[in-house]
Amino acid sequence: MEKGWLGLPYHTISEHYNQLFGEKVYKIPVTVVDNCPNRMGLKGMQTCVFCDVWGSAANKETLSMELRSQIEKYHELIARKYKAKAFLIYFQAYTNTFTKVSALRNNFDIALSYPWVKGFTVGTRPDCLSKSVFDLWNEYHEKSFVAVEMGVQSFFNDQLEFMRRGHTAEASIEAIHKIADNTKVDLGIHLIFGNPGETDEHIVKTAEIVNGLPITNVKLHNLHVLKETPLEGMYHAGEFSPIDRETYARRVELFLQHLSPRFALHRLAAYSSRWDELVAPEWTKDKMGTHQYIIDQLRAKSSYQSQLFAAESATDLEKQNILTKKSRPII
Ligand code: SF4
Repeated sequence: MEKGWLGLPYHTISEHYNQLFGEKVYKIPVTVVDNCPNRMGLKGMQTCVFCDVWGSAANKETLSMELRSQIEKYHELIARKYKAKAFLIYFQAYTNTFTKVSALRNNFDIALSYPWVKGFTVGTRPDCLSKSVFDLWNEYHEKSFVAVEMGVQSFFNDQLEFMRRGHTAEASIEAIHKIADNTKVDLGIHLIFGNPGETDEHIVKTAEIVNGLPITNVKLHNLHVLKETPLEGMYHAGEFSPIDRETYARRVELFLQHLSPRFALHRLAAYSSRWDELVAPEWTKDKMGTHQYIIDQLRAKSSYQSQLFAAESATDLEKQNILTKKSRPII
């Protein structure tokens, strides 16, 4: 008879942060820029099909708030709700390196002026990097934790074209290596599953590409339709249908099974916090339900991260063993 589970069948970002900080840290998402190369139409680029007018901000009211007000408001909310004591400031919305270095410096200084802030995370894209940005990250790395999350979304150029990302898979891979070669930041990427024509082979290949990258973490999203996005028009015209939860869960399972045990996962699916903006699929509203559904599917099939990954190094084998144990029921 099963009495529970030792843990989740994947390496969680909480575990990653716990190893780095020795305590649980919470992210405060903030908005400090209001644009990106796509929205500006640079070099003929277009807004990404899935992106709403808030530039993927977690809280849309942050667009009109000073950085200090955002930090203080969400610090208080999160600290009260979770008894949280340690935080990272997450420069999330739009493209955070699409601004002057002096503005970035000012924002980083504000973020680090709070004693409970352990560092910050910068969201960006592959074509908004420069030597001066790398130098700045390295400078702040000397006194704080600095992480970067890059919107890669796909390693297949036809999918990137569908999403109108305005960069290629090759550009993403090159940017990842450039960051790893020139900085000491904790680097992660975002991926989107559920593009038209996506197959299991795409998912396995994606895991294999990720396994060769110098990053530490991955965030997964399902492609979903928000109001007032280009994708909404495609959805109503019958040109795009989101994948169902069962198919998505199977793709996540496949990805995790082939993924090296060294990577931490932020989240396994997208979540629409602004329910009134979600067009489809309905299940994207249900954050905990979808997360639990994916976990249940993994456990029902005794699947776990790195299960089908050929670990060779002693470190990978050790991490794979931990994941094998975590994914087993307590009898
Ligand atoms: S997803 Fe990012 S890069 Fe794309 S349009 Fe939105 S803010 Fe710009």
